[in-house]
Amino acid sequence: MDIKLICTSCGEVYKEETNTFRCTKCDEPLELELVSNAKIKAGNMLEQSVLERYSEFYPFLNNKVDISLGEGFTPLLESRFLSKELGIKGVYFKNESQNPTWSFKDRGTITGVIRAMNLGFKGIGTVSTGNMAASVAAYGSKAKIDTIILVKEEIADEKLKPIAIYGSKLVKVIGDYGKLYLESIRLGYDNGFYFINSDSPFRVEGYKTIAYEIFEQLDYKTPDYVLVPTSAGGDIRGIEKGFRELKACGLTDKVPRFIATQATGCAPIATAFKNGKEEIERFNNPRTIAHAIENPYPPSGNQVLRMLKNNGGMAVDVDDDEILNAQKLMAEEGIFGQPASATSLAALIKLKEENYFSDEDIVVNIVTASGLKFTSALDQHALNTITIDIASLADIIKK
Ligand SMILES: [Zn+2]
Repeated sequence: MDIKLICTSCGEVYKEETNTFRCTKCDEPLELELVSNAKIKAGNMLEQSVLERYSEFYPFLNNKVDISLGEGFTPLLESRFLSKELGIKGVYFKNESQNPTWSFKDRGTITGVIRAMNLGFKGIGTVSTGNMAASVAAYGSKAKIDTIILVKEEIADEKLKPIAIYGSKLVKVIGDYGKLYLESIRLGYDNGFYFINSDSPFRVEGYKTIAYEIFEQLDYKTPDYVLVPTSAGGDIRGIEKGFRELKACGLTDKVPRFIATQATGCAPIATAFKNGKEEIERFNNPRTIAHAIENPYPPSGNQVLRMLKNNGGMAVDVDDDEILNAQKLMAEEGIFGQPASATSLAALIKLKEENYFSDEDIVVNIVTASGLKFTSALDQHALNTITIDIASLADIIKK
C-alpha cells in the first residue's frame, strides 16, 4: 500500500510518515494525496460499513481489518422550522452524535486504527479531554490492541468514567497539553504505539466520509455552505477534502464554502482570520462552555486558515450565550448536541443577521457530538418543570 503524504504548506512529498506526522522542513501538517479516480459503491447501505461503501476513496488502507462499530451513516436532518425562521432555503443538521461513541471522532479513529494495524504497531493511543479519548478506547477494545489514553490531570469524573469503562490504560498527565500532543506522537511512534491524535493524517482521512454522505443524502448535490465546530482543525480539513475529492473525481462541479465556528472564549483561528493573519497565535486564558473545542493552540490552525482562503470560506466566533441559545433551539428541533456542537447553528444565526447568506442557500451544520456527554452544561439553561398532586392531573392536561 503505497502512500503519498504531502505537506499542506510547502508541498514537500513524503513516501512514508515522519514520526511527528508533520513536515520535517516547515513543521506543518501532512495530508494524504487527493483521490481523483474513485466512485461511490452501489449496493445496500444496510449491508455495508461506511469504509466499504467509500472504499475507493481509501486506496491506501487495507480494509481486510474489520473493526467497524457501525460508525457513520448518520442522519442529515432538515429543519423546515429554522429554514423559515431564518429565511434560508435549506437548513440541515448532520447529526454526528449518532456514532458508536456519540461523536464524529469514530470516523477518524477507525481509519487511524486500521492504519496502525496495517503497519504492524503493537498499540495505539491518543491525547484527549473527552470525545476522542472515548472513541479510541472503544476501537482499541474492539481491535483487541494495547491502548493508551492520555488525559488532562484535572479532567472531571463526568468525562473520565465513560472513557474508563472501555478498559484502556488511562493516564492522567500533569503538564502542557500542546507539548503532550507532540511528544506522545513521537515517543509513541518510536516505541511501537501509534498515536491517533486530533489532526494525524489518517484520522483526518476518516472525516471525508461526512462529505460523501452529505452529498448522497442531498440527492447527489453539494450544499452551498458547511459550518463546522473547529478545535484542532482535523474535522473541517477532512470534510473539505472529501468534497474536493468528489469534485476531482468528476462527481460534482463545486465544493461548498466552509465556515469554521469557534467559541469567543477560545477562538485562535477565528481571531487570526478576522485580522487577516496567515498564522494563528496562542489564545490566552481560554474560557468557554464549549469545552470540546477549547484548544488554545490548534495544531492544524495554520492549515485551516490556508484552506479557508483557498475555499472562499471564513471563520467566526460565537459567545457562550449565543451557544446556549443555539443548543436550546437545536433541542427544540429534537437534536441534543453538546455546547461545542451548537456553535455551528449559533454562527449560522449570527451570519444570517449580517446578511452573509442568500435566501437560496443550502447550509449544513455539523453537530459534532451528543449533549449527553456534558450534562453539567444543562445547569446553564432555565429548564422548567412543575410538580402536581395526581388529583390535579386532569386539570393540567385540560389546560
Ligand atoms: Zn512543509
